[in-house]
Amino acid sequence: MTEQKELDTQTDATREQTKKQKHKERQQKVKEKVDAKIAKATEDKGLLLVVTGNGKGKSTAGFGMAARSVGHGLNVGVVQFIKGTWDCGERNLLEQHGVPFYVMATGFTWETQDKEKDTAAAQAVWQDAKKLLSDPSVNVVLLDEITYMTNYGYIDLDEVIDTLANRPADQHVVITGRACHRRIIEMADTVSEVQSIKHAFEAGIKVQKGIDW
Ligand code: ATP
Ligand code: MG
Repeated sequence: MTEQKELDTQTDATREQTKKQKHKERQQKVKEKVDAKIAKATEDKGLLLVVTGNGKGKSTAGFGMAARSVGHGLNVGVVQFIKGTWDCGERNLLEQHGVPFYVMATGFTWETQDKEKDTAAAQAVWQDAKKLLSDPSVNVVLLDEITYMTNYGYIDLDEVIDTLANRPADQHVVITGRACHRRIIEMADTVSEVQSIKHAFEAGIKVQKGIDW
């Protein structure tokens, strides 16, 4: 008998009982599936994670993982590949917890005009990134907005891929930025695309402290 037919032939009280029972059975099946997946996931390794797409939330997701890691006493390093505002909430907080920040001090901004200067600035901060990516005592590395550097050719894509592939085996790396190159996506373990449905900025609202920086 189908669930609906079964319900039609019952009184209100038994109908309620049947509904509860069916719900329990469905939840039990879901639990069995999740438990089987958990039992299968036994591998332990450093992950490469990518958060890309046009919506808001990529860097905040990266910094969320950085904060979560610091909360567990892990060693975290942050590299920011875009010249940002000096007053940056996540930096203010994480530096207090001993997280080193390597930031592109000069060069690339959205209004960039000078390719040579930008390349030099990108290369300088990439050297800091490479040090983190070869240091086994660093558990988590956040490479914020690195996608633009490889897309514009300021940092060689092959070199980035090589460095990521040869990093310490249990080191996690989080990459954020729009239009992540498909070769980085292919080598990553976890990839999320943040889709923009709407953004306050488009309605003329300026960037807000705590929300945008
Ligand atoms: P956030 O740092 O807030 O997580 P993000 O890393 O996803 O944002 P970026 O592309 O790095 O986004 O842009 C950073 C800035 O641009 C932030 O101030 C953010 O609010 C804003 N922004 C992000 N997505 C959009 C969008 N779709 N339209 C307009 N502004 C956006
Ligand atoms: Mg960002």
